Amino acid sequence: MPAALVTGSSRGIGRGIAYALADAGYDIMINYTSNEAAAAEAADGVRARGTRAEIAQANVTDIDQGIELVDRSIEAFGRLDLLVNNAGIAPRVRADLLEATPDSYDEVMATNLRGPYFLTQHAANRMIEMKAAGTIDIGRFIVISSISAYTASISRGEYCVSKAGLTMLTRLFADRLAEHGFPVNEIQPGIIATDLTSVVKDKYDPLIADGLTPIRRWGQPEDIGKAAAAIGLGYFDFTTGAAFPVDGGFHMRRL
Ligand code: NAP
Repeated sequence: MPAALVTGSSRGIGRGIAYALADAGYDIMINYTSNEAAAAEAADGVRARGTRAEIAQANVTDIDQGIELVDRSIEAFGRLDLLVNNAGIAPRVRADLLEATPDSYDEVMATNLRGPYFLTQHAANRMIEMKAAGTIDIGRFIVISSISAYTASISRGEYCVSKAGLTMLTRLFADRLAEHGFPVNEIQPGIIATDLTSVVKDKYDPLIADGLTPIRRWGQPEDIGKAAAAIGLGYFDFTTGAAFPVDGGFHMRRL
């Protein structure tokens, strides 16, 4: 049975990915930072789909904890076939670009970009070893970035910078790991209904109804899960360094 580590999978998009990957036959390491009850619920949801689930508390902002999280995942299932870098945060306060603070910048960048950069580095090294040992056939990587990777939002600049950085992280690891046959791809979710976006629901409801996204509905965690499962099932193994928009068509320029 292949195994996946999905960071930040106790709630929201990460949980949707965990469930879709479980449906695709993956054992799942559920990761969370603070909400243990949500993590337990997500693990039960995976098990109800017929595969194994383990839970690990780890803060991906802390590089040592990220490394330990990868190692614990491999210990738990004896292998790691897929890493999904999903954990991420929005700025605590949406502040105008001319007033935003270095503390907020540092927190968002450390969680969304710096932590995943070194977590991916460690997972890549472990997967190269596992492939050489015959434990896995292929290592796959998914990076959950955002439409914010290319959309300027002046009330959360640090978030946009972190997500744009994830696009380059994807391309760098895609290039480096290509010689091992490991695909590294990015999913760019649009506006997805989770706790993260619940605070802007009243703002986005009318915008979506008015056609901000050509498909006029909120995205759901399941929408992202299905895309991740397609990658996890190997349907895109000859695709690497690519960005998959799962956004109801938001990415199109329209006139
Ligand atoms: P969410 O509902 O706030 O869930 C975040 C998840 O990440 C939770 O499981 C949380 O665990 C975990 N987490 C947060 N900080 C962490 C850390 N430092 N280390 C480990 N786990 C951590 O968020 P979401 O909307 O599902 O977003 C998931 C990802 O998709 C993020 O990278 C986000 O930027 C991206 N995204 C979201 C949207 C959207 O519209 N929602 C759109 C584009 C991209 P705890 O509960 O224990 O803290």
